[in-house]
Amino acid sequence: MKIKSIHLENFRNFESIDVSFDDINIIWGENAQGKTNLIEAIYLFTGAKSFRGAKDKELIRFGCEKSSLRLEFLSDIREQSAEIIIKDKRSVSLNGVKKKNSAELSNEIKAVVFSPVHLSMVKDGPRERRRFVDGALCQLKANYRKLLKEYSRGLDQRNALLKDIYRHPELEAMLYIWNQNLAATGAKIIYQRLKYLEALTPYVKNIFSGISSNREELDLKYSFYDGIPDLRELEKKLLKEYENSYSNDVLNRTTSVGPHRDDIEILINGKSARIYGSQGQQRSCVLALKLAEAALLEEMTGVKPIALLDDVMSELDETRQDYILNNIKSSQLFVTCCDKETILRLKEGKTIRIENGEVIN
Ligand code: ATP
Ligand code: MG
Repeated sequence: MKIKSIHLENFRNFESIDVSFDDINIIWGENAQGKTNLIEAIYLFTGAKSFRGAKDKELIRFGCEKSSLRLEFLSDIREQSAEIIIKDKRSVSLNGVKKKNSAELSNEIKAVVFSPVHLSMVKDGPRERRRFVDGALCQLKANYRKLLKEYSRGLDQRNALLKDIYRHPELEAMLYIWNQNLAATGAKIIYQRLKYLEALTPYVKNIFSGISSNREELDLKYSFYDGIPDLRELEKKLLKEYENSYSNDVLNRTTSVGPHRDDIEILINGKSARIYGSQGQQRSCVLALKLAEAALLEEMTGVKPIALLDDVMSELDETRQDYILNNIKSSQLFVTCCDKETILRLKEGKTIRIENGEVIN
């Protein structure tokens, strides 16, 4: 898959622009000119919400009623065109045919995105790391989202019961059902996550080692279970955890164990990247995870996702920047930066200069 060009009208700070792309694209300009806005526009064609967490109406250019976005792309040697109109709600069409919702585009256009907001994957608590793995699995396995929903429903029920037991201890016997229920669904979730991490790890290690010129080694460790999973064993272990946490959970009126609390530890040379990693190392970790996600997605689906890398270069030294600019060839690459030096070191590719919402040739 390859993006050929994009046309934007009244999107963010763009009044009207047309940009065509190469295999490697450096989007360059000073602060607040529209670089991230351009990356964000491309990403919307994956059917996802803005990676910056923006609401759709915030994407419409100030003072305008609607935004129009059109993307020309190549898939299986076929030229296609996708269109998004953002007004009161989003409407989407593919090759002139209206689609039910924007998620339908996700089958056509796959992308991984890195933005500074994703640094929270390494810097913050476990929620963002779980979200990364769950998001990747949702793209790969049709039933995984359903599994997450089912677990979440079960969890709500167990938590509601814990609150009731606090006042009516005679309800305790009912907890058994919810423990079993959660253990069955929860084990399936953990099983999928472990399998995914098992497949992802060689890719992450390889990319991270490249970024750090073979000086550093990255490892991933799932908190609940170490090693190759066995579903029955996982379920038994999880059930025991729910049973053992009983008094604690009644006291706190919430479920303290399970896949909704698990963590994926990121280690550099055996030490926690969250606690000990430098800024550049943390950035390299997230980048390696994102690029590994793309490589694995390609291996498993046969679709080459594009890579959208927003502001990855800052805090990285020259060797790390060079590796990213010149060694990641597995997919079409879009990189934003403020710094002219970065562009001068790019050995191939196209430079797109953005100034105040316009493309300067
Ligand atoms: P940096 O290098 O600082 O990351 P950038 O080039 O990535 O800068 P963008 O995040 O793309 O900058 O934003 C460019 C400008 O777009 C900002 O000044 C912002 O005020 C403006 N902007 C954001 N949303 C809208 C909107 N809905 N309408 C008009 N302008 C907007
Ligand atoms: Mg930006």
